[in-house]
Amino acid sequence: MLFKSLNGISKKVNFETAVKKGLADDGGLYFPEHIRPLKKDFIENLENYSNIDIALTVLEQFIGDSINKIDLRKILSNTIDFDFPLVDLGKNIYSLELFHGPTLAFKDVGARFMANCLAYFNKNSSKLNTVLVATSGDTGAAVANGFYKVKGTNVIILYPKNKVSEIQERQLTTNGNNITALRVKGSFDDCQKIVKNAFLDKELNEKFNLTSANSINIARWLPQSLYYFYAVKNLKKDNLVFSIPSGNFGNICAGLIAMKLGLPIKHFVASTNLNDTIPRYFESQVLSPKPTIQTISNAMDVSIPSNFIRIQEMFENFQDLSSVMSSYSFNDKQTLEAVKKIYNNNKYILDPHGAVGYLGLKKHLESCSAQKTGVFLETAHPIKFANDIEKSIKVKIKFPERINGILSKKKKYYNIVSYNNFKTKIMSMDFY
Ligand SMILES: *Cc1c(COP(=O)(O)O)cnc(C)c1O
Repeated sequence: MLFKSLNGISKKVNFETAVKKGLADDGGLYFPEHIRPLKKDFIENLENYSNIDIALTVLEQFIGDSINKIDLRKILSNTIDFDFPLVDLGKNIYSLELFHGPTLAFKDVGARFMANCLAYFNKNSSKLNTVLVATSGDTGAAVANGFYKVKGTNVIILYPKNKVSEIQERQLTTNGNNITALRVKGSFDDCQKIVKNAFLDKELNEKFNLTSANSINIARWLPQSLYYFYAVKNLKKDNLVFSIPSGNFGNICAGLIAMKLGLPIKHFVASTNLNDTIPRYFESQVLSPKPTIQTISNAMDVSIPSNFIRIQEMFENFQDLSSVMSSYSFNDKQTLEAVKKIYNNNKYILDPHGAVGYLGLKKHLESCSAQKTGVFLETAHPIKFANDIEKSIKVKIKFPERINGILSKKKKYYNIVSYNNFKTKIMSMDFY
């Protein structure tokens, strides 16, 4: 299978090339040329397969000859060695916990998969690679962890100053080794713009052999479709509604891929915070981004969702799209009220992103006449947002052992104020 560029100019490439390039030369995102539905028998018997076997079956058509089966199995075993539990919150509502990876973020799966793929593709190359990644909080940590000490690869992370939580900043800035953190004056969208400019900058590309690790990279993006398979495997139900707390819309887009592959999913809800470009699009059919607004669900503080173009690619027209997808936005006050309510009713602690997902799910289920089962994605561990959450529920969140010690590590970053400043800084770095 080949990947086409959504700008339609660059030629089609295989998985390996698409992963190494990140973005096509014409600036377009890569998208699978076609999606072949999986066998009914497989979908109906998911519980008979291990998570690794499911991953192999789901991903093999996209990977094609780029990685042989034996090595792909190894890569997947390195990627998926933690659980994706479903927590029953009653009233046909489930939380799908995606934060059991090493950095407590759902992005661990995509980041680890991508790191393993790149290490595999570059194992015989003497050329140094540079992974350039903009983060609104969680991506950077997952990417840093996935690529930590990967031979031949340096990672440069750009994150917005004062817009990530304390734990997130520590996760970004305390790695050392092949990981460099750049603190950008501005929003996540400003970080993303620098990354996009860098990819179009020939001089930088030549020197650094740049690759992206945002969900624009297919190796980061596609494995996210596995969460939906694991949820269906554990729930064993049809007629499911999934609500996805969305920022760059990579996760929900991977869910739509899972549906196209044959999973029995009825509806998707894209739940956002006040950065509501897509909820407004569903009302007006016009994409009109506003400046980014800072919220407590900061990983979703995105006003220009990169992956929405992939979603549009999957549907003939707006009617088709809106028959399987809705989108709602919620403010911080509603988010914290949901955190409080779920804690009081269930003794279950949501993080702000999961809470937005819960709110979107509830709103959709209330608008349905038929009884449906709803799953919202709990995309981060609440400890990352302890300040806001503890204030709201008046209970101390237990510190997960996996990140013990992080608060005493020393932060190291460089300050960046513009693209030119960024370019000068990295051109002068001596790790190359
Ligand atoms: C990245 C992130 C999201 C948004 O995912 P997208 O794929 O960008 O829509 C939601 N929640 C958390 C905690 C995240 O880190």
